Amino acid sequence: VALYEHRPCQVEMAGEVWRTFRAGGFLLTEAGTGTGKSLAYLLPALHSDRRVVVSTGTKALQEQLSRKDVPLCAQVLGRPVRVATVKGRANYLCLHYWARFAAEPLLRDRSEIQHLKTLSRWAAETKSGDRAELEGVPEDLALWQDVNARGERCLGSRCPAYRECFVTRMRREAEAAELIVTNHHLLFADRMVRTRADAAVLPEYTHLILDEAHEAEDAATSFFGRTASRRMLQEWVQDASKAVPGEKVTLLAALKAAGEAAGRFFDLWAGEERREVFHPRELPPDGAALRRRMETSLDQASLQMETGGMGEEALGLLERLEEWREAFSFVLDESEDTFVRILEARGRNVILSASPIEVAPILKEKLWGDLKASVLTSATLTTGGSFAFLRDRLGVPEEARELRLQSPFDFASQGLFYVPEFLPEPTSPAFLEAAREEVRELVHASRGRAFVLCTSYRNMRAMAEHLASTVPFPLLVQGDEPKGILLERFRAAGDAVLVATSSFWQGVDIQGEALSLVILDKLPFAPPDDPLTAARVDRMRRRGRDPFQEYQLPCAAILLQQGAGRLIRSRQDRGVVACLDVRLRRKGYGRLLLSSLPPFATAGDLDEVRAFFRTEPTAE
Ligand code: SF4
Repeated sequence: VALYEHRPCQVEMAGEVWRTFRAGGFLLTEAGTGTGKSLAYLLPALHSDRRVVVSTGTKALQEQLSRKDVPLCAQVLGRPVRVATVKGRANYLCLHYWARFAAEPLLRDRSEIQHLKTLSRWAAETKSGDRAELEGVPEDLALWQDVNARGERCLGSRCPAYRECFVTRMRREAEAAELIVTNHHLLFADRMVRTRADAAVLPEYTHLILDEAHEAEDAATSFFGRTASRRMLQEWVQDASKAVPGEKVTLLAALKAAGEAAGRFFDLWAGEERREVFHPRELPPDGAALRRRMETSLDQASLQMETGGMGEEALGLLERLEEWREAFSFVLDESEDTFVRILEARGRNVILSASPIEVAPILKEKLWGDLKASVLTSATLTTGGSFAFLRDRLGVPEEARELRLQSPFDFASQGLFYVPEFLPEPTSPAFLEAAREEVRELVHASRGRAFVLCTSYRNMRAMAEHLASTVPFPLLVQGDEPKGILLERFRAAGDAVLVATSSFWQGVDIQGEALSLVILDKLPFAPPDDPLTAARVDRMRRRGRDPFQEYQLPCAAILLQQGAGRLIRSRQDRGVVACLDVRLRRKGYGRLLLSSLPPFATAGDLDEVRAFFRTEPTAE
């Protein structure tokens, strides 16, 4: 059986990656779907005699590389590959906190009893501690928060379980590996903490492949920012209180007082759900006094911990508190105007954060400067045929080599891109109702087999509600089950309709007829009132640049390509991408967006869509 087929574009890319690894510098390469870009970079990487880090935007691609592509390379090369898969710490079970939790489980409700049993069975057997192995529990299992190995409460080398710890083991494996497969979140989080002894997860490396590089800016924004939330501090107070022996009543009282003082401070914003720009100089009345009270009570609690003879564990807890307080001061003290401060209130939790308005200077300083060779790749790196947007956003120098490889698929005959001629614009109050009807018609034409991808939860719920009562196909809705299970059900059903938001726009791979229609409700422009978007737009404007043309439009173009890219995943796939946003036809910028898409045949009339599906080999 042939292991692979010859694809000239794949060979061309492999050659360029090889040259970049030898000569150093940057390579930007856009490789359309079906190019086989994973092998095109893995094989040169494994020939380079260097330790190479491959970073992906999604866990799905990370899993695919580790489980499928790297073993295939080993087969082709005829030798074992020393590979380590490294994920963010919150993906691993923390042996220390698990032992504590299992001894005295505090469950939120009865439904957690079954999950606890599943978790216990798995914890007793797992060799990796990676929760990707853990089947049968929801992705957002609250219990996992109590027992995962996230960094902010790790005791590091002071932990009694340090030697067996899954994170420690993962680090050892990475140290010995020639190839490290990780994701952008971990890559940037690691860069952020590298200066702290013991905190880095990845070993030293000089050669990097950034796959799904179009997602790098978002990941870098979250990891080069700072966050101090009420929940993080509450957890610290809880963990510290559990670690304090019962007879230390004064210390316990100090911790309780600190928790209460923090509660009063964060209560200034609790309640109404929101995400908005936060101006520390405009604290609500009493804000400054409540902050002082909280800080004083934290000082008292930590002083008592330091002097209270609590041993090693106290040191880990104090370091953790120190980190929280540093982040808190960074957000509140507003000395850095290159960051935008954001306040988010979700239920009782209040999150104060500072996000870098631009990550390019940070990447230059913290990442690119340490590397000899960097390959940035994705199926969607260009807008209107140019890499300028990506270079600008990620701080990649102009002399970077560039390579654009067209997909080997025949989009003109395999796919149809449909934008209705007559539908209200998405800004119109009549849009949602009309769009729901259009979706129903489309889903009937395709006989199910559809993704309905929405730009907001509101639209997602409205679409799902309408389809539930109007189409006879199995309906799957984001949030009802974990993503992986929804996708499995979708594949298995063969005629299902999945309604989802942005988390399904990227990195989802369904080959074959189970997915024959992708509907995008609107053009994916970031909401202009989002604090980060607003800050970026404002900064560009102040520099005399055009934020719509240079930022908002290219961002939307890449997301649109990603959404449309869910459809044609192999030479056999056939189907329709429908975008219900008529601005694509009516506005000048529609041309740039359309020119960024693969060369689909186009349609504006529902009858053309019906005719397309009637010509399917499987149509009755
Ligand atoms: S070292 Fe940190 S992550 Fe590992 S078991 Fe201990 S506390 Fe958990």
